[in-house]
Amino acid sequence: MKPNILLITGGGRGIGAAISLLCAKAGWDLAVNYSRDRDAAESVAEQARAKGRHAFVVQADVSDEVQVQAMFAEIDKHDGKLAGLVNNAGVVAPLARLEEMSVARWQQVFGVNVIGSLLCAREAVKRMSTRHGGAGGVIVNMSSRAAHLGSPGIYVDYAASKGAIDTLTLGLARELIGEGIRVNGVRPGIIDTEIHASGGMDHLLDDAVAGLPIRRMGTAEEVAQAVLWLLSDASSYTVGSLIDVGGGR
Ligand code: NAP
Repeated sequence: MKPNILLITGGGRGIGAAISLLCAKAGWDLAVNYSRDRDAAESVAEQARAKGRHAFVVQADVSDEVQVQAMFAEIDKHDGKLAGLVNNAGVVAPLARLEEMSVARWQQVFGVNVIGSLLCAREAVKRMSTRHGGAGGVIVNMSSRAAHLGSPGIYVDYAASKGAIDTLTLGLARELIGEGIRVNGVRPGIIDTEIHASGGMDHLLDDAVAGLPIRRMGTAEEVAQAVLWLLSDASSYTVGSLIDVGGGR
């Protein structure tokens, strides 16, 4: 049987790495995308190969159309067919109130989180949709509980970008289900990764976690389990759904 390739954007670190490793264990072959950290992505691909999977790394800044097109062209050269996409790559900008935010910052946050997801979904649809001669597939979008909570005083722009992901998930799911592609999303709460340090949020984490019903951060693996289920046939009647992995909030 031809291998089924799963593309995980930002698959080398954090939640993306956990998704990559869990999916490799479940039998997926991997295209592990990275933007800057090639070593991390290579390490994940190497661990997948050690599990007997076909796995390789592909570089692209997902907010850049030319780079995304080149990444999919690279995937096309590998044995097997693209059968799944996890739009996981995402960024936050440093903690700020709205009146302190620049347009450049918004372009970065929306460029990676929203345009990046749109671009990768577009290229995946061209390959997976039965409308284009494909064999179908699955897409999972990484949203956030921030889409519902709004992240006031911290990063409303990031929250708004994830609100866009929720809407994209619903619309795409309905657009594509008749063409063999199932689309769903996951909304993690506070997960233990490096993203909080990248947004200068570390000092707020203890208080934020104390406010969670579950009183602890989630692990990347706990998010990955929800993604794996949505990628699998076990969720075959789940379409356009958003699974909250937020410890009760
Ligand atoms: P992370 O540890 O900071 O990792 C971010 C990943 O995204 C890295 O693999 C990074 O690649 C990749 N990335 C960033 N910019 C990129 C770009 N322009 N093109 C391609 N890849 C890019 O973050 P995380 O916590 O795992 O977050 C993963 C996803 O979960 C994001 O969408 C985030 O918004 C969402 N999420 C996280 C939390 C949380 O609490 N951690 C909560 C809700 C939602 P490099 O390794 O090459 O830098």
